[in-house]
Amino acid sequence: MSRLSEQKEDRPFPIITVTRRIVQILSFFAVNLIALELIFSIDLSVFTDQIIPYPFIHTPRDAWSTGAGMFEFMLFSLARGEVPYLLMGLFFLIVLITARFFCGWVCPVGFIQDILAAIPGKPKRVKIETDKSLKKVKTYIIVFLIIVMIFFGAIWNINQQLWVEWKFALGQFLERPLAGFSLSEFLFNTLHNKIQIIWQGTGDPLFDNTWQVLGFIFYIVILILSAYYPRFYCRTLCPYGAAAAFVSDYSALRLGRNPVKCVGRRECGICEKVCPMQIRILDEPFEGFTGEGECILCGRCKEACPYDAIELNFG
Ligand code: SF4
Ligand code: SF4
Repeated sequence: MSRLSEQKEDRPFPIITVTRRIVQILSFFAVNLIALELIFSIDLSVFTDQIIPYPFIHTPRDAWSTGAGMFEFMLFSLARGEVPYLLMGLFFLIVLITARFFCGWVCPVGFIQDILAAIPGKPKRVKIETDKSLKKVKTYIIVFLIIVMIFFGAIWNINQQLWVEWKFALGQFLERPLAGFSLSEFLFNTLHNKIQIIWQGTGDPLFDNTWQVLGFIFYIVILILSAYYPRFYCRTLCPYGAAAAFVSDYSALRLGRNPVKCVGRRECGICEKVCPMQIRILDEPFEGFTGEGECILCGRCKEACPYDAIELNFG
């Protein structure tokens, strides 16, 4: 039987993509209760007392967020001289078992980038070396944040008065260390506030200073880039993505490629062309790969492979 005849005959129903979109839409509303409040004009703040104690539910920039999600709680704990063993353990456990399923299927910021990338037009790809360098940026950000938070944790243990003074001097940085690095913050907090000011016509200034204007422009540019370069923010800047990639590289859940079925890059290479994280799938080991933790398990490669050569493995 020729290789050609081993191809999937008809294009099957894209069950992975459709299921993923449904999960993403449901997750979007579940995680971003602010969206529910806005769309249906309802006040969900009555649930505040039930939600606030559970950082896993009370996640990125929801309507009740005074801090933020699980990851920001971890950083904030470090800045108070505490090691968040429980949250860290939970984070490691979840990522080791599910890899970056959250990024591919649940994260609302990922979902919005997927929508932007679905705008008709050919997705662009960056050069391999540039892609590698860009992917490192998010690691630098999270390492920087951890070091700074540990530093503040040490200050807290030595001189709490000084800690309080610095906290005030730094504005919201110690309360919301991820805020300045978060597209989630921009989409569900900053942008939402600006729209509200314009909508209500209160006459309040949209920006308090030049830094806010620059930050606004920066994230608009990131959104525009995400329309051309799929998952641009996830790949380059997301601090959660950086930490998850580090752990996910050791995850038991990973994709594998059947060496008998796969015909390789010269004859096919479709999997690499559709991968939103621009992973060099065909340079990865057959038995299992995570693309150095960058694979978000979106399943696009598996769905697009004409030879059904990609499989999901656990263990
Ligand atoms: S794994 Fe990639 S290169 Fe191999 S057959 Fe499938 S789509 Fe083609
Ligand atoms: S390797 Fe496959 S599952 Fe992983 S991000 Fe790329 S397309 Fe998605």
